[in-house]
Amino acid sequence: MDKSEIKPAIGILGGTFDPVHFGHLRTGLDVVEALGLEQLRLIPCALPPHRVEPVASPQERRLMLELAIKNHPRLVVDDRELDREGPSYTVDTLLSLREDLPDNPLFVLMGTDAFCSLSSWSRWQQIAELAHIVVMQRPEEPMQMNTELADWYQSRQAQAGDETLAYGKVWTIPVTQLAISATAIRDALYEQRDVRYLLPDAVITLIEQMGLYQLKPQAS
Ligand code: ATP
Repeated sequence: MDKSEIKPAIGILGGTFDPVHFGHLRTGLDVVEALGLEQLRLIPCALPPHRVEPVASPQERRLMLELAIKNHPRLVVDDRELDREGPSYTVDTLLSLREDLPDNPLFVLMGTDAFCSLSSWSRWQQIAELAHIVVMQRPEEPMQMNTELADWYQSRQAQAGDETLAYGKVWTIPVTQLAISATAIRDALYEQRDVRYLLPDAVITLIEQMGLYQLKPQAS
């Protein structure tokens, strides 16, 4: 293919972002830089398939994301999952993205833990027919895969130059190790502890203004 015909590469980072924090943002940027992505779309999910419902509403989570990435030229919020009914399956999001971006190289970012559970995801093998997968690996984190997934991973490993393909390969990219989680931030806020330097100041201010994460929800 003529180099001028290659479309810009787009990354996709889905999550609950309840709230967004530097663990999402810095590692996402590590991948943008490592693979030369034109854009990274942060996609908040309405209802995550594998876990309990988020504490903040979809609109509140989207607002926090928008503030967090404000003025960064390569990061954008994509709210297509918020308009969909039911669980947010990655494969459905990719089918929807492909309608807008039929030929661009697409890269779905996920942590090692998420990748190791991939074979339990809805229509998981179809994901690589729609996009590349980028495993964001933290230093010395083991990849514990079942045999089916390990064989699949071996057969799909990306090689130099594969960046120009639109889909189909698995990349493993080392990322900055930041032991930050939204759960730990919510717990700190419930206990009125200081959460500065774990997430952007603007997001902390918004959390205060919206009165979020004040009372720990009772487990049902
Ligand atoms: P929670 O604590 O509520 O489970 P979380 O902090 O893990 O939330 P999510 O919104 O569920 O955040 O994560 C979205 C994506 O970001 C996932 O692929 C997850 O692996 C990745 N991620 C979250 N935190 C980090 C981090 N500190 N470093 C690297 N990747 C992260």
